[in-house]
Amino acid sequence: MSHDPNCIFCKLVDGKIPSRKAYEDDEILVFHDISPWAPVHLLLIPKRHIPSMVEVTPADAPLLGRMMAMIPKLMLDHGVTNGFRIMVNTGQDGGQEVAHLHLHAIGGPRPWAKG
Ligand code: 5GP
Ligand code: ZN
Repeated sequence: MSHDPNCIFCKLVDGKIPSRKAYEDDEILVFHDISPWAPVHLLLIPKRHIPSMVEVTPADAPLLGRMMAMIPKLMLDHGVTNGFRIMVNTGQDGGQEVAHLHLHAIGGPRPWAKG
């Protein structure tokens, strides 16, 4: 499915729900997480509705590669100079709450780190 009318991130892509955008092109939208865990907490999503990593196919590899590869510059542009974390929660046991594939890119000092 390329668009799910009940999906919160599809609504965000459509502009039906506002977001603080950090980057956008034909295929990808990047915005600030509404409940950030750290000074910089970005979510990167494909504009096409892919529910999770489970549904990703080899044809999606260039898209996912592009999403991963843009993170270092995005973080730098947001003042993150000392490292960051990339996370993709997947499915129920993976702690995924929004069923539209998203990469968390989390940076800044480490209050969010476990242990
Ligand atoms: P998950 O647990 O699925 O990996 O992460 C979903 C993330 O989406 C959470 O960190 C949550 O704060 C964020 N989120 C949920 N709804 C919205 C929204 O409407 N706008 C924004 N900007 N972030 C959202
Ligand atoms: Zn969606």
